[in-house]
Amino acid sequence: MKTSLRTDLTVSDVCDGFVYNQLEGKGLFGLGGKLTIQPEYQRNYIYAEGGGKREEAVIHSLLKGYPLGLIYFNKVGTDKFEVLDGQQRITSVGRFVTNKFAITDDGNPKTFDGLAADQRDKICKSKLLIYECEGTESQIKQWFETINIAGVPLKPQELLNAIYSGPFVTKAKEEFSNSQNANIQKWGAYVKGSANRQDFLERALDWVSKGEIGSYMSAHRNDTNIDELKNYFNSVIDWVSTVFTDVLPEMKGLEWGRLYEQYHSKSYDPANVSTEVKRLYGSPYVKNRRGVFEYILGGLQDSKLLDVRVFDDATKQSVYATQTAAAQANGTSNCPLCAVGHAANQGKIWNLAEMDADHVSAWSKGGDSSAKNCQMLCVTHNRAKGNR
Ligand SMILES: [Zn+2]
Repeated sequence: MKTSLRTDLTVSDVCDGFVYNQLEGKGLFGLGGKLTIQPEYQRNYIYAEGGGKREEAVIHSLLKGYPLGLIYFNKVGTDKFEVLDGQQRITSVGRFVTNKFAITDDGNPKTFDGLAADQRDKICKSKLLIYECEGTESQIKQWFETINIAGVPLKPQELLNAIYSGPFVTKAKEEFSNSQNANIQKWGAYVKGSANRQDFLERALDWVSKGEIGSYMSAHRNDTNIDELKNYFNSVIDWVSTVFTDVLPEMKGLEWGRLYEQYHSKSYDPANVSTEVKRLYGSPYVKNRRGVFEYILGGLQDSKLLDVRVFDDATKQSVYATQTAAAQANGTSNCPLCAVGHAANQGKIWNLAEMDADHVSAWSKGGDSSAKNCQMLCVTHNRAKGNR
């Protein structure tokens, strides 16, 4: 089956000669008679049901400049089309521009003719994204079933590429969506996904725009170069591959753009970094290896990133028992910090439930989570010691 994307048709083109059959409950024709809106295999118009909230939403979307999503036409002859998907939306628009229903605008019901001239103009000039498909009846029907089961089989970035099509997207796709690009393999160590499903382009845009992909694409739509996009992406990748000389599977798909922004002005010794990566990868206490990189970049401070395996219950119970027996023999508190304090708790024996396990030698300084590095502290003292 052949498909091609059309972005030239406006609401007024598609609604040209729109006919709505009240009796059959169907939008019949558009595009100056060239388009059949509801062919036999389509359900009837349902957007007017339930008080018409859905058809009103279609019109409000147009007024706000939101895209209506993809519409699929089946080309059935020279300049003859049927709507494969999108008939409800087209019928909503057609019914509205022929004054079949009103929307609520500023608290008042307004038909199309009742809108201000600029609002009418905005609706009429809204462009629709239309895929024209050509194929045999069985291909079309099979495909139609698929899009109705799986929804529109497009990724968000593919949709954005269609919405903001122009010289910028063309150039950007040449660079980031081209599986023949020799850099793809290198990038693939840090970025998840595939070139032809737009995952690299999406990441590059996400990084340079700090998450504002749509507005970035809109602002650069007519640019004839992609220098900024390309340079920024390369800066991030070069930085990661310089700081971390080891290429590890857990690096793929991390938020490298954010990490670059946060840490690229700090200096790192790649040899030390590599030693640290290997040590942490070898540690049985690190549960989250994906956190190793940010942990190192942040100067080995935030061990939450590593989801460090803590002391198990058996270790805590045995340390508690030993500590408590010794404290009772000495007549001091079984919390070593309470015991040396000046408060009323100097001699207090806490229950196990009132205490927490603490690393004597901080985990971040190489202390492990074994019994000999474990001490039980009362909850207050353990909290005060904080995350070391
Ligand atoms: Zn204490």
